[in-house]
Amino acid sequence: MSKKIYLCLAHMSGQEMKYIQEAFDTNWVVPLGPNVNGFESDLKEFVGQNKEVVALSSGTAAVHLALLACGVGVGDEVIAQSFTFCASTNPIVYLGATPILIDSEPDTWNMDPALMEEAIKDRIEKTGRKPRAIVVVYLYGMPPKIDEIMAVAAKYDIPVVEDAAEGFGSKYKGQISSTFGDYGVLSFNGNKMITTSGGGALICPTEEAKRTIMWYATQAREAYPYYQHEAIGYNYRMSNICAGIGRGQMTIVQEHLDHHRHIAQLYAEAFAQVDGITFHHEMEGMESNYWLSTILLDEQLKVRNEHLAYAEGIHEAVGGAAGVVHMGATIHTDCEPNRNVEAMRICLDHADIESRPLWKPMHKQPVYRLAPCYTNGVSEALFKKGLCLPSGPCVTDDDCRRIIETIKGSIL
Ligand SMILES: *Cc1c(COP(=O)(O)O)cnc(C)c1O
Repeated sequence: MSKKIYLCLAHMSGQEMKYIQEAFDTNWVVPLGPNVNGFESDLKEFVGQNKEVVALSSGTAAVHLALLACGVGVGDEVIAQSFTFCASTNPIVYLGATPILIDSEPDTWNMDPALMEEAIKDRIEKTGRKPRAIVVVYLYGMPPKIDEIMAVAAKYDIPVVEDAAEGFGSKYKGQISSTFGDYGVLSFNGNKMITTSGGGALICPTEEAKRTIMWYATQAREAYPYYQHEAIGYNYRMSNICAGIGRGQMTIVQEHLDHHRHIAQLYAEAFAQVDGITFHHEMEGMESNYWLSTILLDEQLKVRNEHLAYAEGIHEAVGGAAGVVHMGATIHTDCEPNRNVEAMRICLDHADIESRPLWKPMHKQPVYRLAPCYTNGVSEALFKKGLCLPSGPCVTDDDCRRIIETIKGSIL
């Protein structure tokens, strides 16, 4: 029996328990304290650019509070990248606003700046108002065409939320992700570049913005001897225990970044030799953290046991750790990965290797069927052809070779 290889398992530095023990010894077992302050200051140093940082309970909470700080409210429209995980767009709906979903360009797989501008113009024409904010994503760690995105945003004077939940440590022309937009979102979920078990952070432009975010994250209390509330707040602050894990993780963040790039390099070299498989590369001037390495399978590629693909329903979340899922009512949906991609996923699964299709674009999700979308076919085509491969700090060179050999051996 071979060891199971997962997409991106958390990996500890060994320092985490020291910080957690300190929290217990000093009785700081609450959502504030020395570890929260210490983790924020580590992050502040890591991102630089004179930014401020607020540690929060999740990346989703960070998106939510960023949109709130941009003034998003009931009836507003928010421009969002369609090709992403639902945590980029769900908070728009939490606020009673409508996501305007924008397709991707083929180079980085992130929001297409030209299509985004078209959409902004069209929304202004149709509604008489401009969208309230823009949410752009670092898909799988790959930086978006941020210069172009920021130029369009500046032209129409719309604030930008950079969802760098997957892109911690990625760079664009040498500048680190999450520092270009008005706000930057980080996630420290168990499967991200570093983890706090669950958690996130919001990168803020000023001290004042930081104070506002902290205020919202701690139930929006006014300065009185009793609890006085003049706005609706949230319970979104990071716990001092989780922040202790984060401080431990920050001691090995560079090793994690180096390791993900090393794994990506091994895949890139191997798949350059394989007809019908394309590795997703970073562009010139960009530095992806390669949170997950991804490949595309040509439609013509023949994979072993394609007749088994979609032969039966899935009984648990792919990558089980993801938690509770509803049992699908049907085996097929109207937009799903090609048969050869699903067959490859099954071949890998039978070899104890976890892989996963790319994110299904939000404009193809039933829950967003009413959201206006501006599409060019790029993200839908990628979704049908793509697969995420194990890329985390626990994936060894030997694992990588086994994954590559399994993939090659599954091609007919
Ligand atoms: C993981 C993720 C988030 C949210 O992070 P959580 O910490 O899991 O709430 C947001 N956006 C994207 C693109 C993500 O992948």
